[in-house]
Amino acid sequence: MVAFLTPEVRARPNLDVIVDAHTTKVLTDGKRATGVHAVVSGSADAANSVTFEATNDVVLCGGAFNSPQLRMLSGIGPKEQLNRHGIDVVHELPGVGQNLQDHADIAVNAKTSRIGMPLQIGLTNLQSQIKHLFLAIFKKEGAFVGDNEFVGSFFKSKPGIPANDIQMHVAPFYYKDHGATLRYGGGLTAKSCYMRPESRGTVALNSVNPMEGPLIDPNITIIESIQSKALAEDNLATCGYGDKDVNNLTDSDIKEFLRENIESIYHPVSTW
Ligand SMILES: Cc1cc2nc3c(=O)[nH]c(=O)nc-3n(C[C@H](O)[C@H](O)[C@H](O)COP(=O)(O)OP(=O)(O)OC[C@H]3O[C@@H](n4cnc5c(N)ncnc54)[C@H](O)[C@@H]3O)c2cc1C
Repeated sequence: MVAFLTPEVRARPNLDVIVDAHTTKVLTDGKRATGVHAVVSGSADAANSVTFEATNDVVLCGGAFNSPQLRMLSGIGPKEQLNRHGIDVVHELPGVGQNLQDHADIAVNAKTSRIGMPLQIGLTNLQSQIKHLFLAIFKKEGAFVGDNEFVGSFFKSKPGIPANDIQMHVAPFYYKDHGATLRYGGGLTAKSCYMRPESRGTVALNSVNPMEGPLIDPNITIIESIQSKALAEDNLATCGYGDKDVNNLTDSDIKEFLRENIESIYHPVSTW
């Protein structure tokens, strides 16, 4: 918050920013939003909520997962789901929580015989890592502050389609789980993301407790990634896939690889 709102903006007399607040319900008068209930000061108990009344509008911006959850908790959403949780229907809107779209992403790793880049972990690389540590501390630059010499590109998975549908990043180090797992030794990581998702997932209520997260089903279909099958084959052939012979991969090998390794790159949208 401090990073985005300048002191001048925060000093405005018509702006109060309340942190550690959790909105638990949108209040309505008929189909008009009139305010919210919110739990403030970091309390985890929805029963401690206070009321904020709107003079004009309520702008709901809880993101692709929490906005539909809050709507449904407030009686705005698919009737059957609201009924199932015993929530009074204020406004029947079947689309709330539907149509979840996200970017499916697949990473392949390749080992290299040499260790040379700063984020490749190994003793022979110590000098480079110390250099980048100093760069990070004293100049706020270098590999440890995000300058990882990534290569990025957009391209078409097959000829004849109107627009690029694949985004690819290549990073000069060996990582999995979005960087949570770094591997010892030299290597690189190529991540391919399918940019035209056709899968549709859902966000549903887990319970009527607003302090609990919703149920999220991304429903990413394997077919979607198979559309970039040729690309996956190329990647696997270059980077290797476990102990398998990369020159003789079958469709089911590739499907299995995709099923095990597909992940979201956190672009959920379109749930209302
Ligand atoms: C690791 C990561 C990397 C990303 N990289 C990129 C990128 O490179 N380029 C790009 O374009 N996009 C990127 N994105 C996606 C981008 O961050 C999101 O698309 C964007 O932030 C969505 O904005 P939003 O305002 O809809 O929701 P959010 O940014 O999710 O904001 C919703 C806010 O509402 C709050 N909230 C939720 N429920 C409640 C409640 N009940 N009461 C009070 N507050 C609540 C949340 O705490 C949150 O602060 C990335 C996302 C992640 C997680």
